Amino acid sequence: MTTAMTHIVLGEDFPEIREAVGRICDNFPDEYWRELDAERAYPSAFVNALTEGGFLGCLIPEEYGGTGLSLRAAAVILETVHASGGSAAACHAQMYTMGTVLRHGNETQKQAYLPGIASGELRLQAFGVTEPASGSDTTRLSTRAVRDGDHYRVNGQKIWTSRALHSDLMLLLARTTAREDVKKPSDGLSVFLIDLRQLKGNGVEIRPIETMINHNTTEVFFDDALIPVDSLIGEEGRGFRYILDGMNAERILIAGESTGDARYFLRRASDYAREREVFGAPIGANQGIQFPLARAYAETEAAELVARKAAALFEAGVPCGAEANMAKLLCSEAGWHAAEACMQTFGGFAFAREYDIERKWREARLYLTAPVSTNLVLAYLSHHVLGLPKSY
Ligand SMILES: Cc1cc2nc3c(=O)[nH]c(=O)nc-3n(C[C@H](O)[C@H](O)[C@H](O)COP(=O)(O)OP(=O)(O)OC[C@H]3O[C@@H](n4cnc5c(N)ncnc54)[C@H](O)[C@@H]3O)c2cc1C
Repeated sequence: MTTAMTHIVLGEDFPEIREAVGRICDNFPDEYWRELDAERAYPSAFVNALTEGGFLGCLIPEEYGGTGLSLRAAAVILETVHASGGSAAACHAQMYTMGTVLRHGNETQKQAYLPGIASGELRLQAFGVTEPASGSDTTRLSTRAVRDGDHYRVNGQKIWTSRALHSDLMLLLARTTAREDVKKPSDGLSVFLIDLRQLKGNGVEIRPIETMINHNTTEVFFDDALIPVDSLIGEEGRGFRYILDGMNAERILIAGESTGDARYFLRRASDYAREREVFGAPIGANQGIQFPLARAYAETEAAELVARKAAALFEAGVPCGAEANMAKLLCSEAGWHAAEACMQTFGGFAFAREYDIERKWREARLYLTAPVSTNLVLAYLSHHVLGLPKSY
């Protein structure tokens, strides 16, 4: 393998993490993911292996039982999973959803939850922000949490709450003060850490949504669900800011997954293009095949640099909203361009399930839409960096 090719497969920084995660991924080859995809089943064995390796607790400080790695190291873990042909979407939220508790929870909450999350005994991988009517306009969410003695009474509905059926706990964003009674629309929203094990069938109903990828996403219905007051994280009414804090980390991590997707597609496409002979020559000798791959490779390398900068700023504790958004935008587009180039390189065989290209292509497409859509990233950069007026 040439140096450049090793680089496509492995990336550069944290070689020891790439190698350790790669060893786990070797036990979960394409056939494993293909079968799960056909059955729409949860990758329990893979999630357990990654948990046992300590990789899902990597962002939890050592004092709470985690390994306290950097955000960039965490992104490399996710990148490696995706570059191997797998998908970390089934468990990535276990890594970062706890960030809201870590940054804004009180010491009792941290002691109660973080060690269990670090060991994997407690699954916190559901994150309920999006609602059917509010969509990207989060401040218009209408799920209400109303104080009632020692409890809050929750009514409303979330949509696209991924992994809720594979999670013990869920982070919930709900309105505690009506929009018309607050100064700014983003005030009056609060974050709760709720225990789905107690609530399922007791005011909470979870219904799976069928999607084009194996994503275990759901709708969550709240009907007079009673949650104890100590589920509140931080101060009542400041939840929107807490969620925003976590979104930068999420964007940087998702950028890692897209980078991994890009590396997978570039490796598979280059291998195929060297071997597949049509008209008496490898198809990879044609520039029509080479150039889209070469361009996607250049885009991937550039996008990864922005993601590394975003992670470095995040680690330094300085504002990184623009860089985190750009990382997510550029890496997701690089991943998608590599997916398209790979799809075209494989010709008709790209459509055959046994080649795994169509599965990864479907999966890579998600990141142009979630966790934040491309237009909303562009709107963020327009307003916050370029100082252009808001269209909404
Ligand atoms: C598989 C999957 C898993 C998900 N998991 C979760 C999860 O675990 N938790 C969670 O809370 N959410 C989750 N989401 C939701 C996801 O974050 C949203 O789908 C996404 O933010 C877009 O919101 P929306 O679907 O309501 O689209 P809308 O807000 O209705 O937007 C539709 C389109 O219009 C564009 N648009 C909207 N407003 C503007 C504007 N002002 N200017 C320009 N364009 C605009 C958008 O960019 C988008 O392209 C998931 C979604 C999917 C598909």
